[in-house]
Amino acid sequence: MDWSGKTALVRVDFNVPMLNGQVADDTRIRAALPTLRYLREHGAKVVLLSHLGRPDGKPADKFSLRPVADRAAELLGAPCTFATDCVGPAAEDAVSATGAGEVVLLENVRFHAEEEANDSGFAGQLAGLGDVFVNDAFGTAHRAHASTAGLAEFMPAVAGLLMAKEIVVIGTALEDPKRPFVAIVGGAKVSSKLAVLENLIARVDRLLIGGGMANTFLKAQGREVGQSLLEPDLVEAATNLLALGNKIVLPTDVVVTTDLKGSAPPRTCSADQVGPEEMIVDIGPASVGVFRIEIGHAGTVLWNGPMGVFEDPRFAAGTLAVAHAMADSSATTIVGGGESVQAVEQAGLADRLTHVSTGGGASLEFIEGKVLPGVAALKGDCS
Ligand code: ADP
Ligand code: MG
Repeated sequence: MDWSGKTALVRVDFNVPMLNGQVADDTRIRAALPTLRYLREHGAKVVLLSHLGRPDGKPADKFSLRPVADRAAELLGAPCTFATDCVGPAAEDAVSATGAGEVVLLENVRFHAEEEANDSGFAGQLAGLGDVFVNDAFGTAHRAHASTAGLAEFMPAVAGLLMAKEIVVIGTALEDPKRPFVAIVGGAKVSSKLAVLENLIARVDRLLIGGGMANTFLKAQGREVGQSLLEPDLVEAATNLLALGNKIVLPTDVVVTTDLKGSAPPRTCSADQVGPEEMIVDIGPASVGVFRIEIGHAGTVLWNGPMGVFEDPRFAAGTLAVAHAMADSSATTIVGGGESVQAVEQAGLADRLTHVSTGGGASLEFIEGKVLPGVAALKGDCS
């Protein structure tokens, strides 16, 4: 786009964690900076739209984006003014007062019920504030709301730099991966990720399964898992996936405990020696060794979901080992998913991966092979 003299209406994902009225984690604001810098340098007036939390369609002080504007200004090293509403006179006046290369953040779009209803009148009002819709909110791209999809009906719509990176990196892994393509899927339940497993199994060379969901697969192989998290209704689905070939790799050894909330040291055992009172809480060292070798040989590694109850340091070794193996690998390495991203960040390894996705739910739906409304809305309008 030629941005000179234009107003960019930029949907960002500034849905940041707040604590006592302050921004508790500014990762998502930082992730939007390349797009904001680019637009400023190219002479655009930058009008930012975002949601924060779930205010259910009415204004609520605790969901105000005002503190976020202050943090954005600090990170940008330039003023970021704030408007007390995202439509109407407050928004119009704030946009008029903003010059080329300057930035204004409008109040929470979810203070209006029309946002989540994708109301076209509301989208039209938002569209009146700018010339071009820039969607940089990958984290909200799986929702068809007025500011994530509806706007594209009223004005030219393009992807921001963060959105583009998410789509290109994850999309290339799914459609045209450098092989061998290894996926690692963990987390609590098969049920929340069955569609992910079904989409990935057709595309990958290896599918490494850990975390609570591995238990249902171990059960499908006839192993006893004691008190472990198990989804009996999904044993059949796991059996069907295992029958598709030899791509699935399960843990051969596991860490078990009878003391999930306490501090007793855990026990490591073979995956077929879990006692009736024990629960599986991590993958074991032999499994880590196998997973590490698979990651080491890969051309592309896509990871979603921790290998164990990593929130407790007693059960974090498997998850941390996978994070380190990915950081050490020369493959294209991608991690997506709320808790797995948190584990990578806690370990200080985010900078050593190719891509740490900013979208938990959105990246999951993307990996499921679903069309994301916020992405689909951009198609055809980019010329
Ligand atoms: P992500 O957010 O990365 O997609 P999920 O939300 O699917 O991951 O799952 C994360 C949760 O899974 C973590 O809170 C973790 O404690 C839990 N978990 C991992 N392994 C186990 C296990 N063996 N038993 C019970 N819960 C587990
Ligand atoms: Mg999660």
